[in-house]
Amino acid sequence: MVTIICASCAESPFGIQADGMFKCIGCGELLAVSDIDLDGTDVWAVGADGTLGYVSDPAAALTDLMEAVEDFLSSDQCPNAEYARIVSQISATEALGRYIDARRAGIAAPRLGYTEDQIHTAVNEGADMVIEALNLGGGETDAINLAANGALFCLANPGSSFAEMVEENYGETVEEIRSWWGWN
Ligand SMILES: [Zn+2]
Repeated sequence: MVTIICASCAESPFGIQADGMFKCIGCGELLAVSDIDLDGTDVWAVGADGTLGYVSDPAAALTDLMEAVEDFLSSDQCPNAEYARIVSQISATEALGRYIDARRAGIAAPRLGYTEDQIHTAVNEGADMVIEALNLGGGETDAINLAANGALFCLANPGSSFAEMVEENYGETVEEIRSWWGWN
């Protein structure tokens, strides 16, 4: 964790108070959580002694770690493969260190993916949300539901065609679907 130094006195760190605010232990400057200004790849954390600091966002650290692993795996394609391997290993070690640091500071592990059920629910909720909010008619509703079903079909079968999707989901041909609302 990197300790955040007060910008007002430029010398002391902040300590957490009972009300959730942070107070500079030197000049007494107050800092609210909403005023903590960090890079998008960092998150604030509180040390065991109540000092305010920041650590890498675990999600960003994991992304960097995965990129370093990919770089390592493709190092043979680099003009200087040995150098590329060493650089990627250093990057991986550094990213892993940032991840461990963030987890030790109590930052939750990032969610790595969604279950198929969650994706189905989200896609269908999104479709229903738009259809209801815009009070759409039958043709538009059907088109949006086709898109939702297409997205879910492609989740399981990437690169599928429209014809394959409607055959499987609706048991109809493309021409039959087109005929629903005079689409062409
Ligand atoms: Zn200060």
